[in-house]
Amino acid sequence: MKDILADRTDRIDSSGIRKVFALGATLSDPINFSIGQPDFDVPEKLKKAAIEAIETGQNKYSQTAGDNILKEKIAAQVKERLGWGEPSILVSSGVSGGLLLAFMAVINPGDEVIIPDPYFVIYKHIINLLGGKCVFIDCYPDFELPLEKISDAISEKTKMIIINSPCNPTGVVYSREQIKELAEIAGAKDILVMSDEIYERFCYDGECASIAEYYEKTLLLGGFSKAYAMTGWRLGYVAGSKCLRDVVEAMTKIQQYTFVCAPTPFQKAAIAALDYDVSDFVEAYRHKRNLIYEGLREKFELVRPGGAFYAFVKAPEGSSGTEFVEKAIANNVLVIPGNVFSEKDTHFRISYATSDEKIEQGVETLCGLV
Ligand code: PMP
Repeated sequence: MKDILADRTDRIDSSGIRKVFALGATLSDPINFSIGQPDFDVPEKLKKAAIEAIETGQNKYSQTAGDNILKEKIAAQVKERLGWGEPSILVSSGVSGGLLLAFMAVINPGDEVIIPDPYFVIYKHIINLLGGKCVFIDCYPDFELPLEKISDAISEKTKMIIINSPCNPTGVVYSREQIKELAEIAGAKDILVMSDEIYERFCYDGECASIAEYYEKTLLLGGFSKAYAMTGWRLGYVAGSKCLRDVVEAMTKIQQYTFVCAPTPFQKAAIAALDYDVSDFVEAYRHKRNLIYEGLREKFELVRPGGAFYAFVKAPEGSSGTEFVEKAIANNVLVIPGNVFSEKDTHFRISYATSDEKIEQGVETLCGLV
C-alpha cells in the first residue's frame, strides 16, 4: 500500500478509537458511554420541516455559503449574542466541515496552533494532515485555561489559538474572566482565535461566555448536531466579524470545490431549528450530569462538568487510561481512553448521553472496578 497512499495519511492515527470500537463490537448489550451524540431524537417539528423541504423540491444545490434565509437568521442571532456588526456567515457540513475549511484556509506547513490539552480529536489530526504544528498546553488537573502557559507558548509562528467551551472531552465551561483574559492575550499579539462552541446550549450552571464578545478576530464555529440531535444531518456554521471577512470568503471558496454546499433540505429545517426551544433537553442533561458526577465522585477523581455531555475521569491509581478502559469494556461498559483526546494517558472519557437507567448501571459497574 505504501506506493499507493499519500504520505499525509501517515500523519493521522485512529488506533485509539478503533481499539474501543473493536472491543465494543464483541459486546452484545453494552452500557455505551462512548458516543458523542444526544440520546434523544430530532424534535418532530424539525423532522417535519425537513420532510416538507424534500417534498416541495428543495433538493438541489444551495448557494455555496448556504441558504440566504438561514444565513440571515444565523447572522441576526450572532449579532444579538455577540454584538458584532455585519458578520460573514458560511453554512458548513457539520462543524467538522467548518473546521476542515478553516484549517485549510489559514494553516501553512510549519504554522503553530495552540491547543489546550485535552482537546477535541479532530483538531490535532487535520492540523497534522496539513503540515501544521500543534502546540499543546497541558490543562491538567482542573482543565481550566492556563493563561500564563498559553501566553508563553505564543511564538513568531503561532497562527491560531483554539478554544472549545463547553469542552469535549472535559465538560469544562470557561469562566467569563478566563475568556476575557484570553482575549487580551490574543489581542496583544494579534493572534486569530478559533472558538468551537458546538456545545453552547449544553451549559448547566449558568452562562456560556464566548470569546467572540471580547475579541473580534475570533472565528466562531457553531453547530446543529448536538442541540437538536441531528448529527447525521451534517450542518454547522462559521461566523466571522468584519475583520475576518477574507477568511470566511476563502473558506467559502474551498467549500465550492469540496463540499459544494451543506445538505439543502436540512438547511431549510435548520431555519426552524434556530427558533426551537431546547431547554427541556438541557434540563434532562443537567440531571444526567448530576447522576454521573454524584455517582463517581467518591471513588474517582473528576472535575464537575459544567457543560456538554462528557466527564473526564482519572483512572484509578496504578492504571493508565487505556488499561482502565480495557477493564471497563471487559465489564460491558464502553468508555474512551483519555489519550484519544490528549498527549497523556491518565484519564478516560464518559459520554453520559444515554438513559438515566444506563447511567446508574454504568456508574455502579465503574465504581465496582476500583
Ligand atoms: N467540535 C466538537 C468539540 C465536537 O465534540 C464535535 C462532535 N463530536 C464537533 C466539533 C463536530 O460536530 P459536527 O461535525 O457533527 O457538527
